Amino acid sequence: MRSAQIKPKPLLVCSGGTSSRCAADGHWTLDLRESYRQLHLDISSSHVTLGAGHSMKTLLSELARYRRSFPSGLSGLPGLGYILTGGISPLSRSQGLAIDQIIEIKGVWGNGESFIQSKPVASSSLKDQLTWRGLCGAAPFLAVITGLKLATQPLKPLRIWQFNLHYEQLLDLIHQAEIWPQSMSLQWIWGNEIKAYGVSILNDNDGAETFKQLQKTLLCNNIIKIDDVAGLHELPPFMLPTCSKAPTDRFHSEVVGLLSPTWGNSCDQLMKSLADLMAKRPDPRCCVAAQQLGGATRQISKDASSFIHRQAIWKPWITAAWPAGDTHIKQQSLNWLEQVWATLEPCCDGVHLAQMHPHLPWHQRELKAAFGEWLPGLQELKACHDPYGTLPPL
Ligand SMILES: Cc1cc2nc3c(=O)[nH]c(=O)nc-3n(C[C@H](O)[C@H](O)[C@H](O)COP(=O)(O)OP(=O)(O)OC[C@H]3O[C@@H](n4cnc5c(N)ncnc54)[C@H](O)[C@@H]3O)c2cc1C
Repeated sequence: MRSAQIKPKPLLVCSGGTSSRCAADGHWTLDLRESYRQLHLDISSSHVTLGAGHSMKTLLSELARYRRSFPSGLSGLPGLGYILTGGISPLSRSQGLAIDQIIEIKGVWGNGESFIQSKPVASSSLKDQLTWRGLCGAAPFLAVITGLKLATQPLKPLRIWQFNLHYEQLLDLIHQAEIWPQSMSLQWIWGNEIKAYGVSILNDNDGAETFKQLQKTLLCNNIIKIDDVAGLHELPPFMLPTCSKAPTDRFHSEVVGLLSPTWGNSCDQLMKSLADLMAKRPDPRCCVAAQQLGGATRQISKDASSFIHRQAIWKPWITAAWPAGDTHIKQQSLNWLEQVWATLEPCCDGVHLAQMHPHLPWHQRELKAAFGEWLPGLQELKACHDPYGTLPPL
């Protein structure tokens, strides 16, 4: 990295290894999973030091032993990539994003220089504040991160409720969720069927009351599966049943994540258009899903990190899937993804760059939508810290 000799660029980095860009034909991958395995909880401060080789599952299991937790996402499989790209958790509405928990960042800039950067305070220099902003939410463009120090949260028992619903019920549920207390969040996934997945913090009075009302109305006619679990480390999987019509077991996919403020009444038309596109999916594994943020995630200034869409309360994401090696369905699925994106775009002005796509034609469009007016600032940081463009292009 110091001598700018890595070719072809970009150098790919693998932490959890769950995204399509941790390895690619003809590219070098720096796989951090073997060598960066430190995980230490300081009991007195409740801060955890986490190496880039661990998955979120390992982090949660270790913290649970001390009755601590971390706002991880809907799966324990991702690693540091989850935190570095923002990290939206089913508990983000009460605990914030994953990047909001970062206290210290350790790594190697794209130019090969190592660094340790601490969360700035009011008296920190402008340079340190901007560097921190860049690292929180856009680190993969600037540096290889080898470890983080993170604040942790008390372990909280959760109620997870899941049920299948019709399109009209989904509309109703989305409307209701927009005024839910922060202790509750809605996730839904729409493929061959539609499934809702609610997460509520148990022992929260507002949440308990809202759940009681839901049971009397929307939930009373549906078969609902309720799991009370000790914390996020016991979250049941968020997925649709395996699709029996899928042509082969091995498949590839690309995901685009969007961000939007409250949908309100515009939701009805949006969902109607979406229903038409859902009927035209080129592969049964293509789907649209969404998770809810807001609450605590809105309380942080948009200038504090590279996650600028602090007003967002929905993150819909679109998955294009195809049988491995089938270039025809691949193209159809990517076209379908773009159609769904165009349909959602009027209500979703932001992008959540949880998955990067420098290999696809819409990379620039995603960068602009993800970072908005902050993009030139990020590009300045990149020119300083990754002048040879060793890491993904910005
Ligand atoms: C099943 C599943 C559920 C998910 N649920 C959520 C969710 O609830 N909320 C949410 O916000 N996201 C979610 N995601 C998205 C996921 O968090 C992102 O795709 C994340 O980037 C994957 O992390 P990873 O460690 O597996 O990254 P990898 O696949 O290992 O790497 C992906 C890219 O991230 C960058 N990167 C990774 N590690 C580093 C590092 N140490 N230093 C510099 N760059 C690095 C690199 O550019 C790399 O190419 C989910 C993904 C999956 C597969």
